Amino acid sequence: MAAEPNTILIRYGELFLKGNNRYYFESLLIKNIKAALFGIRFKFVKSQSRFFVEDFDPADKNLILSRLTKVFGIHSLSPAVKIRTDLKKIGEIASMMAPEQGTFRVTVRRADKKIPKKSMEIAAEIGGDMLERVPARKVDLFRYDFELCVDIREDGWSYVFYEVIPGAQGLPSGCSGRAMLLLSGGIDSPVAAYKMGRRGVTVCCVHFHSFPYTSELALRKVVDLTEMLRPYVPFIELTVVPFTKIQYAIHEHCPQEFMITIMRRFMMRIAERLAQDKKCGALITGESLGQVASQTMESINATNSVVKMPVFRPLIGNDKEEIIEIAKKIGTFDISIRPYEDCCTVFLPKNPVIHPKLSEVERYESKLDIEALIAEAIAGAEVRSAAFPAE
Ligand code: ATP
Ligand code: MG
Repeated sequence: MAAEPNTILIRYGELFLKGNNRYYFESLLIKNIKAALFGIRFKFVKSQSRFFVEDFDPADKNLILSRLTKVFGIHSLSPAVKIRTDLKKIGEIASMMAPEQGTFRVTVRRADKKIPKKSMEIAAEIGGDMLERVPARKVDLFRYDFELCVDIREDGWSYVFYEVIPGAQGLPSGCSGRAMLLLSGGIDSPVAAYKMGRRGVTVCCVHFHSFPYTSELALRKVVDLTEMLRPYVPFIELTVVPFTKIQYAIHEHCPQEFMITIMRRFMMRIAERLAQDKKCGALITGESLGQVASQTMESINATNSVVKMPVFRPLIGNDKEEIIEIAKKIGTFDISIRPYEDCCTVFLPKNPVIHPKLSEVERYESKLDIEALIAEAIAGAEVRSAAFPAE
C-alpha cells in the first residue's frame, strides 16, 4: 500500500477570519491558490475552514508545495495521505510515512462518531502499531520530534499526516485593495512590493526608463523582478514610462544638485496619475530613511508634497542588511544586482542636495512645463507585464 501523500491540506485564517468577512476572504484565497497552481493538474476541495488540493500527479507534489508556501493568507500546509476510513490501514500508512527514528505522539481527531472507539484509544492502537513495526521510534506525548495526526472525517475519509509546513502568513492578496509601486531595478522596491503584498495589497508597478541611456536589458530586469514577485502577489502588473525627456528638461533648466529631487517629484506625480487610472488607493516606494541623499526627511517631504494619495514606505525603518535578507529569501536579490544602468544613475549629479527646501525646489521647477511633460510621458506608457500573463 502506498504511503505517498495524495492530498495537500491547507490551513488558513485563524487571524483574518474575524467578523462577517469570511466568505470574502475565503473566495479571494481560493482565487489566489488557483492562480498559484496555474498549469498544474489538480482538484480543489473546500471543507470546514480547510482546503484540500487533490488528484495531482505525485511528481508535481513538491512544485505544488513550493508554490503554495508563497501564497499569503495560508497559515500552514500538510502533505497527507487520504484514504477510506479503516483503522487497520490507517495504522499501516502511519507507520510507513512517519520518520523511522525519534520520539512521537499520535493525535486523532474523530468527527465520525459511528466509529465506536474513542480518539485516545485509536491513537494508542496506531502508536502501538508504529512501535511494533519500527522499534527505534519512541512515544513521548509531551516532548515529541513529530506528531502523527489522523483526521477521521464524517464523510468516510481519513487524512494521515505528520509534516506541518509553515505558510507565508499575511493576508490574502487583494483583500486590502490596490496600490501603485514605484519599481526601480534596485534591491529595495521589490522588497517593498513583497511587504505590502503580505498585507493583502495587489501591487501595480510603474518603472521609469531613460532610453537610449538605459538598455532593453535594464527593462528586462524589471520585468524579471515583477515575475519573481508574482508568486507572492498573483495579479501584479508592470507599466513602463519613458523618462528621458523629463530628465533633459530638468538638466537644462534646474540646478544640478536638485536634479534627483525634481526627478522624484515627477515620478510621484506620474505614478499618482497612473494609480488613479488603475483604481489604486495609495503609492508605494522602497525608501528607507537616511539611506541616500534623496531619502532624508526633507527630501521625502519634497517628493511627498506633490501627491495627495497616501504613500506607503514599508522599508522606512529597515536597515539595508534586513532588506537584503528579504530580497534573498524571495529571489529578487540576484536580479536586482544585475549591473545595468538605472535612469537615476544616468544624470546623477556629483553633489545632490541633502536637505532641499521646498520653496526652492518649487521655484526651480516653475521653469518647466510640468503638465506637458507629464502628459507626454504618460502617452508613452506601455504595459510590460500584465496582471494575467497566462491568458
Ligand atoms: P531601490 O533599491 O528600490 O532602487 P534605492 O535605495 O536605490 O532603492 P533610490 O534610487 O533613491 O533608492 O530610489 C528610491 C525609491 O524611488 C525606490 O525605492 C523606488 O520606489 C523609486 N524609484 C527610483 N528609481 C525609480 C525608477 N527608475 N522607476 C520607478 N521608481 C523608481
Ligand atoms: Mg535605486
